[in-house]
Amino acid sequence: MPPRGPWGGGSAAAGAARDRGEGEGGGGGRGSRRSAGTAPPGEGPRGQPVAHGNPKSRGGARGGSGSGSKGCSGAMAAEIVVVGSCMTDLVSLTTRLPKAGETIIGHKFFVGFGGKGANQCVQSARLGAKTSLICKVGSDSFGNDYVDNLKKNGISTAFIGQTTDAATGTASIIVNSEGQNVIVIVPGANLLLNFEDLKRASDVICKAKVVVCQLEITPAVSLEALKMARASGVKTLFNPAPALADLDPQFYTYSDIFCCNETEAEILTGIPVGNLEDAEKVGRMLLERGCKLVIVTLGAEGCMMISGDEPIPKHVPAGKVRAVDTTGAGDSFVGALAFYLAYYPKLSMEEMIRKSNCVASVSVQAPGTQSSYPYRKDLPQDLF
Ligand code: ADP
Repeated sequence: MPPRGPWGGGSAAAGAARDRGEGEGGGGGRGSRRSAGTAPPGEGPRGQPVAHGNPKSRGGARGGSGSGSKGCSGAMAAEIVVVGSCMTDLVSLTTRLPKAGETIIGHKFFVGFGGKGANQCVQSARLGAKTSLICKVGSDSFGNDYVDNLKKNGISTAFIGQTTDAATGTASIIVNSEGQNVIVIVPGANLLLNFEDLKRASDVICKAKVVVCQLEITPAVSLEALKMARASGVKTLFNPAPALADLDPQFYTYSDIFCCNETEAEILTGIPVGNLEDAEKVGRMLLERGCKLVIVTLGAEGCMMISGDEPIPKHVPAGKVRAVDTTGAGDSFVGALAFYLAYYPKLSMEEMIRKSNCVASVSVQAPGTQSSYPYRKDLPQDLF
């Protein structure tokens, strides 16, 4: 398996750069894979900012933290709301990594779109979901380009803030010819997403079918978003990435679905995950902490799922594929799972996971992060 960056979701470079020598954004990337997509029945075409929803007020409470607020009002609606990060990847390819104080010449540079929140939202949107991303970028060219990227993916940008107080989040990445990398992440504007921003978006949060959160923004903001969703009966999907050893225990109880990879599972529980049995142990421990349903993604092995309702762990294998770059596979999986939760709620969880495995396993067969995420029209139609 190609090496993974310490910041899996957005670090398009680590595995990707070796293979592709091209970027996702800034004009590079697999533009040819961009398409109008095929939206679920009743939806418009992709490629435009999504401005949809019922303009009539439903007369619900506005404002506040949203906690306890059952009603909704306002014009915007999205089936899937992602509260999370946007990061611009600045990737330099070199033959070797520089020493401290040294200047070296690289042979290739590209800019990519990353950040776990945006990645997951892009995957959901490419499957045809109505999505809204709640995030913060800088009032700078990276921020402007990122907003354009999200619009091109058909994601509502109504609740994307642009700030002059910090730059758009960046990951500056150097990858040598052996695929080793050094990465500096500056979260910047991502850490300025705050409770006020959530309040402004409370209508769209409480009208969603699914709210998805991760940990590349201030954790308290992610937790508040989960609480707002829960208070309105919206399903919560939480991806504890990057993992925090001292994760606030409320994350366990406010997540309907808690989805982590092997590394995150180990950081959270102290149990190294090398096989299915380890993943099952992790799953049981996380259920004891209050999760309703735990998914541990296992790379090429697919996933393990366990829930309070079905306490016998299930292995949901992924199909065998030739992986060229697994960077961002977890985000593709989470984005796909959000799509199935929102649009096919009657499917069994095992079936949703099986289908999400299929989507994510397509993503590992192309280089890059968002550039590798498949569109609905390019997938086997029995996934829909
Ligand atoms: P992360 O990207 O967070 O490290 P994983 O590596 O566990 O997450 O991958 C997430 C999902 O992507 C897996 O559950 C599986 O569905 C799919 N996947 C990842 N690697 C492969 C692979 N080599 N072959 C097929 N599917 C894969």
